[in-house]
Amino acid sequence: MTDGQLAVIGLGSIGSMALWRASRSSASVVGFEAASPAHPRSAVGGDTRLFRMTYRGEGNYYPVLQVAQNLWRELEQESGQSVLTQCGGLSIGETDGSYIPALLESIKRTGAPHEVLDRDEMERRYPQHRLGAGECGIFDPEAGFLRTDRAVLSAVEAARSHGATVRSGTPVREIRESPTGVQIVTDTETSEFERVIVASGGWSRALLPPSLQSHVQPKRIYLTWFPARHPEEFSPERFPIYIRITGERSLYGAPTIDGASVKATLDGRGQPTADADGVDRALSAAEIAESEETVAEFLPGLIPSIVRSDAFPDLYTSDSTPLVGFVPGSQRTYLATGFSGAGFKMASAFGAIAASEALGRPSGVEGLDFVRPGRFV
Ligand SMILES: Cc1cc2nc3c(=O)[nH]c(=O)nc-3n(C[C@H](O)[C@H](O)[C@H](O)COP(=O)(O)OP(=O)(O)OC[C@H]3O[C@@H](n4cnc5c(N)ncnc54)[C@H](O)[C@@H]3O)c2cc1C
Repeated sequence: MTDGQLAVIGLGSIGSMALWRASRSSASVVGFEAASPAHPRSAVGGDTRLFRMTYRGEGNYYPVLQVAQNLWRELEQESGQSVLTQCGGLSIGETDGSYIPALLESIKRTGAPHEVLDRDEMERRYPQHRLGAGECGIFDPEAGFLRTDRAVLSAVEAARSHGATVRSGTPVREIRESPTGVQIVTDTETSEFERVIVASGGWSRALLPPSLQSHVQPKRIYLTWFPARHPEEFSPERFPIYIRITGERSLYGAPTIDGASVKATLDGRGQPTADADGVDRALSAAEIAESEETVAEFLPGLIPSIVRSDAFPDLYTSDSTPLVGFVPGSQRTYLATGFSGAGFKMASAFGAIAASEALGRPSGVEGLDFVRPGRFV
């Protein structure tokens, strides 16, 4: 006899979604969370995450993003909460630089809906962005932003209503596979399940097999917000989410959700940290100076003085691609971690994929070889 069919370790972005999806088909699912679901020192912190269907790079994420979009809507229906605001999204850069041609190449492969906006059209539609000569924008009509804590808490509540058990304040210290199941060791007890999903984000390394530990690294990612001179110009109706990469400079962000401040953060600044609890929340003088200079140059409608900042952990893999699938050689321990600074938009889908596969069913999503942990072994 086991204590349940499935244990989910970590009820953050991915684990909350896995618990929700698993609870719909299994009567004995238990979520272990070291702190509390959606706690603000996890990768859920910072209010919002960008959602977009257009992306640069090789990974076959498009089918996953299609599933994710549908599941965010399903979560909204089930919870009555607004989770995803599809206000559109802009990718901005030099027409012949490193970003826009690579993005268009990937769009050609996926067929994602998009519009190319030249500099004049950008100026007409989105005067909040100051573009340089030779720059353009790509508009993604399905992009937008996710309300992170709302999404995670909604998923956990939905899971509870389907009968899942939630153990907050219960860090898992060890996972031990036995011939009959997998033992989950906490400070106070050891329980046994048929399968386990490891979704403990920046803290996952200690729960991974040694063969994978050297391929992951927790990193600190910071966020900055700036006050708007005229906040109505930065509302979701007028100001889509954006990612801009111009030469060595970069900035991404979202419209105002508090009617005063706008998220505007330097892109690609993840820094290795010894452990996820040790993330330094304070920004260095250099980080502040570069952020303020970039905002002054790119978004003249913002006052270039940081009004809020914070930093959070995420687990990166050595190829910046997540680990989703069974540990090589195991049929009991399933990994859903290593989302490398880009996982929230897909959390609903990868949570659902993890739940199905860990319960021994096909996920219905094809072409996932690129995320399987076996690629490192
Ligand atoms: C600042 C920042 C900005 C980002 N921007 C974007 C964006 O715009 N778009 C996007 O798609 N992605 C973005 N990302 C990436 C995305 O947020 C992460 O990839 C994703 O949230 C990671 O989810 P996770 O479930 O792996 O980790 P988390 O959400 O951190 O969840 C891990 C959970 O596990 C718990 N836990 C840890 N150890 C244990 C244990 N031993 N036992 C029990 N529980 C444990 C933790 O307490 C935590 O609640 C960003 C990330 C950061 C940090």
